[in-house]
Order: sequence, then structure tokens, then C-alpha cells
Amino acid sequence: MKVIETIAEMKRVRRELSGAVGLVPTMGYLHEGHLELVRRAKAENPWAVVSIFVNPTQFGPKEDFAAYPRDIPRDLAMLETVKTDFVFIPPVAEMYPPRFSTWVDLEKVTERLEGATRPGHFRGVATVCAKLFNIVEPTKAYFGQKDAQQCVVIKKMVAELNMNLDIVIVPTVREPDGLAMSSRNTYLKPDERKAAVVLYQALNLAQQMWSQGEKDAEKIRRAMIDHIKKQPLAIIDYVSIADAETLEELKEVKPLAVVSLAVKIGRPRLLDNIILEN
Ligand code: AMP
Repeated sequence: MKVIETIAEMKRVRRELSGAVGLVPTMGYLHEGHLELVRRAKAENPWAVVSIFVNPTQFGPKEDFAAYPRDIPRDLAMLETVKTDFVFIPPVAEMYPPRFSTWVDLEKVTERLEGATRPGHFRGVATVCAKLFNIVEPTKAYFGQKDAQQCVVIKKMVAELNMNLDIVIVPTVREPDGLAMSSRNTYLKPDERKAAVVLYQALNLAQQMWSQGEKDAEKIRRAMIDHIKKQPLAIIDYVSIADAETLEELKEVKPLAVVSLAVKIGRPRLLDNIILEN
């Protein structure tokens, strides 16, 4: 496994690789969810590149950019275990030199859900992914279903800007009790960690109602909200049932629909979602 710390070196190394390259963009502080993306990249390509970059432009001024958990030696040890070929760790000053002013801005699909709570977040995400795609020139890039809106945004950017790669979405990896793995779970205190299972329970409730024939989105949303409200540590930001492609809110549930929620428990705002299929 080779660690690469400059854009020029990454481009030079890439030019020498023949065969398909799988890229897994991350912000580090890795967990089993990230490793699953890397395993998939390794299974589908001779070369796997993992980027670790806590991207300042996707954090709001009051968000946790400075405090975001970081542990590069631990990340590298984990990446060795899944046979990563290259780890790209660019410095912020190289990714965003002084007077940087070029942005990838998607309309509509970024205005709701996470975009409504975190203005500018997806502009930062789309811009950094476009830069990583240009630097690494991957054949495929791997993203987690855990961040459902991010998946929609990246796929749309790649399609509309005619980028030369495929986007692969990997199912959410969960803890044994169902909590979706996330680097921000480390912020949870023990009682909050126990309470956090309420997100998964609410999603299961939605799945169950849908499987039993319920099509009224408002009824499902209401049942989810009622369930979450029984947990005093949970503060709901949103519960959404939306068209999986446009992310427009549905009145009548029809597949593919994405049921997503953001709930604050203690310090972190936790995200999770499921897809309702036929
Ligand atoms: P992050 O480091 O949080 O930016 O995540 C990097 C990538 O890993 C993103 O594509 C995430 O969607 C994905 N990811 C994060 N958590 C999980 C999870 N629990 N299961 C699958 N993928 C995940």
C-alpha cells in the first residue's frame, strides 16, 4: 500500500496504472462501512485508491470541521487489511489554493433534506468529488447508500457533466443493533448510543407498513415520528418519504421511494435511510 500526499504524485502514479481503477472517497476515521466500499472496489477493479480528505468546503461555519475525528495511522492500518493499493491524502492548501473560486453547484435536488439544513454542503461535496475524479480518473467510484442524497447528487453530476466514470452505490453497513455505522457515532455518550437505535426502528416501522400495503406517506411519516418521540434524547430534524430519483416528497408512496431521516441525539445529527421497493 502506497500513501500519496500530493496531487502531482497522484496524477503521476495514475498515469502508470493500466486496467480499471476503483476510487473510494472518504473523510477518514474509518469504520466497517468504509472498508466494505474498499472491498467492493478491490473486487471489481485491479486497483483501489482510497482518498482521505476532511473537506472544509462541505462544512458550514458552525459545523464540526475542526473537531471532525481524525486518526491517519489507524486508518492506514485498517486500509492495509482490505488490500488497498493507494491512499491519497491531499493537503487542504493544495485542494483549495488561495483565491480558489470554481464550484459545482447542482440545483433543486440539493435544496431539500440535508441541503435545507446545511446550505452549501452539496456544493462542497460535488466540487471535491469532481476534483477527486479529475485527479484520480477512476473507472468507478464507490459511495455508501447511508448518504442517500449524496448518492443522488453525485450520480446526477456525473451524468449531466458527462464524466467518464461509473458510480457504484454500496448498501449501508450497520452495527449489530441496526445503527448505521458513521464516524460521527464516536460523539455519542453511552446512553445516547443506546437511544440511537430509534432511527433504525423507525425505518423498520416504515418498511413494515409499506410491506403490509400502506401507501399513504403521511401515515407512515406520522407513525415514524410518534415512535421517535418516545425516545426523550432524540430531536427530529426531518422524516422524509421521497421519490428516490428526484427526492421530491411523496403523498402516495410508490417505488422506488427513499425513506430518510435526520435526528439529533446528543452532539451528532444522525442520518439513515432505506429504499422501499416493490
Ligand atoms: P465519509 O467518510 O463519512 O464521508 O464517508 C465516505 C463514504 O463512506 C461515503 O460514500 C459514505 O456514504 C460511505 N459510508 C459511510 N458510512 C457508511 C455505512 N455505514 N455503510 C456504507 N457506506 C458508508
